[in-house]
Amino acid sequence: MKIKKFFFFNIGLAFIVSAAIAFLSQIGCLERLRLAGLDILFQLRGPLPSSDKIIIIELDEDCIFKVGRWPWKRTWHAALTRAVRQLGAKALYFDILFSEEASGEEDDVFSGSIEEAGNVYLPFAFPERTTDVENALFPIEKFSAYAKGIGSFNSYPDSDGTLRSLPVIFYAEDDVYFHIALKLAMDYDGLKFIEIKDGDIILFDSKNEIRVPTIDGQKMLINWLDRWKYTFKHYSYLDVLTAYQDMSEGRKPSINTEPFRDSICLVGATAIGLYDIAAIPIEAEYPAIGAIATTVNNILDRRFIRNIGGRTYWSLIVVLALIPSLLISGERVTRETLFTAFVAALFIVGDLLLFKRQLWMDPALPLLSLLSSHIAVTTYNFIRISAERKSFFSLAVTDGLTQLFNIRYFKIILKTECMMAKSEVRKQFCIVMTDIDHFKHFNDTYGHRVGDLVLRKVSDVLKNTVRSSDVVARYGGEEMIVLLGGADLKGGLNVAEELRKRVESQEIADGKNVYKVTISVGVANFNSKDNEESIIQRADEGLYKAKNSGRNRVETVENRP
Ligand code: GH3
Ligand code: MG
Ligand code: MG
Repeated sequence: MKIKKFFFFNIGLAFIVSAAIAFLSQIGCLERLRLAGLDILFQLRGPLPSSDKIIIIELDEDCIFKVGRWPWKRTWHAALTRAVRQLGAKALYFDILFSEEASGEEDDVFSGSIEEAGNVYLPFAFPERTTDVENALFPIEKFSAYAKGIGSFNSYPDSDGTLRSLPVIFYAEDDVYFHIALKLAMDYDGLKFIEIKDGDIILFDSKNEIRVPTIDGQKMLINWLDRWKYTFKHYSYLDVLTAYQDMSEGRKPSINTEPFRDSICLVGATAIGLYDIAAIPIEAEYPAIGAIATTVNNILDRRFIRNIGGRTYWSLIVVLALIPSLLISGERVTRETLFTAFVAALFIVGDLLLFKRQLWMDPALPLLSLLSSHIAVTTYNFIRISAERKSFFSLAVTDGLTQLFNIRYFKIILKTECMMAKSEVRKQFCIVMTDIDHFKHFNDTYGHRVGDLVLRKVSDVLKNTVRSSDVVARYGGEEMIVLLGGADLKGGLNVAEELRKRVESQEIADGKNVYKVTISVGVANFNSKDNEESIIQRADEGLYKAKNSGRNRVETVENRP
């Protein structure tokens, strides 16, 4: 089977499309699309359960209303620290930056409770997007000295303002610093940090190696579980304090304190105006403490999202661009479009299945590749087929030598013209028949090649003399026929005479010699009894008459006006 030329064009288009996508992606134009693709996967995947070992203690509006404006006296935190310890929590994290001293007394009380509890974690902050330890904000010495652990609580949303990852590890000078989320999870599970390998953070739990995938050696994609309301256990800061007080005074606490046993408690502000909120893929407003909780949960459950990028990803982009180019010929547009839609659907389902297995293959650019290729290839083939149809048509109605219409097509037009003239849409027209004089002799003298040249030249003269709305065709041999629309006999005779004169005066040069020929012309005009045969017949009779009266002249058998 011969491979058609358009096939190579199709494949060329596929490569152009994938190269364009690679280029646009390289200069960052498609980043938003990629990120949106991730968000859609989260939404399609649906929620996952969150750990009941993670408890969020909220500084909510009610607390602020009852206790008063922020910041609170640190003795409140001291009380909470004691309460949470007594309730059996394994870890307590304050999402509050204690980088400045308050009154010495308050600080001493809080410091004492931190020491006593021995399970308190505190955050520090690197200056925005740096690992500048010199200028980082650490908790005051009194607190950090007794804290079980400290970790960075930096978080950086993507360019569209949505939070999708946390920087879980920082290299500063020769030291390694952990994000508080990683620190909490490592301590809770007894994990040790080993190294970073191929972009994975390698942890060890004394038996197994645990690989935490990152996107750049630092950022871990957060595997969002569910919306804020439905993730983790939430308690109000004051409710925890009250419950503790009730218990210590022998009353039944108003909340269930059972979940606190062996839990990780995260204290964070959720009152409006107090807390950082960020948009996340599954919710427009999500408290920052939730991002930490989710990351801890991801590490404890080993539910990481690994990004499939690199060669596999780019090969897929090329393959998806190639699919339309291999299958589309533009002949069955509906079927081809349905097929592309089917491939897209298949890809989305496959991609979603991968995502459910915690593998993120960005769907946006591969789909863009498939659709752009489909559109490019379909458009190209549409144009190609239209052009082909046009050239088929002109091939079917044109005489090859003279490029005039052929007689078959002329007769179709003449038939229509007769019908229109009869129905009085257009009342009159003339048929002019021409024949080159002594052409046989001309051919015999100068050869067929020169004869053909003359035929072409005479055709040109005829075509260029009549109006563009008139139809000139090759009747056969060296006879031409012209339909002069709207012409009465007088007009027809005038045009015929003009044709005769122009041919007579036309010099035909073939580079060596100059030739001249003459034509004889017959004219007939339409009458209501005519059909396409009879009017040609009378034009032919006129031509015969012209030949018999000495040639190089115009004659008609009609009654002259
Ligand atoms: P008359 O003045 O009576 O028309 O004389 P004539 O020799 O032209 O006679 P006729 O019209 O019967 O001649 C037809 C000739 O036209 C025969 C052939 O040599 C020439 N002819 C027909 N078709 C072609 C063509 O396609 N190419 C060339 N070169 N000559 C053709
Ligand atoms: Mg002839
Ligand atoms: Mg002739």
